[in-house]
Amino acid sequence: MPEICWFCKKNESDTSKYAKVFLRKYMGQRAGNLGGQVIKSYLQRTVFIPRCKECEKIHAKIRKNNLIANIIIGIVAPILWIGGMVFLGHFSDPTPICSFEAGLPVLVIIFFITRKLVTENHLYKLGVIPESRKKDNPNVVDLIKAGFAFYSN
Ligand SMILES: [Zn+2]
Repeated sequence: MPEICWFCKKNESDTSKYAKVFLRKYMGQRAGNLGGQVIKSYLQRTVFIPRCKECEKIHAKIRKNNLIANIIIGIVAPILWIGGMVFLGHFSDPTPICSFEAGLPVLVIIFFITRKLVTENHLYKLGVIPESRKKDNPNVVDLIKAGFAFYSN
């Protein structure tokens, strides 16, 4: 009996599409065999969150769109920033808040926050939990309570 997808609570999950959350708990350290070497030990856990094909497709599309936007911003923003410095002078306006160099990073931050809100709102309307909320899964929450922390594998 396949589990129901945790993200839409509607479709049957597909085991090959499960979302993964990697956690680990620090268990202490000991001296290694070589002098001065310290070996830290961790208890590792991977939570597999049931997800269906449809939700995985939606999540993958968002990941791809975000990546493309990040690459464009990562190229365009520094060019504009350096260009502003060169052509407008160090501060284009004496008040830092109005200067192009101070304003551009603020605009980029506003873009990221707005994108996150718009994306999450769009998904909630579709009845799909955003992939970024997988940390709210009860199995993950239990491990966090037990002293585990997120880490990227
Ligand atoms: Zn689903």
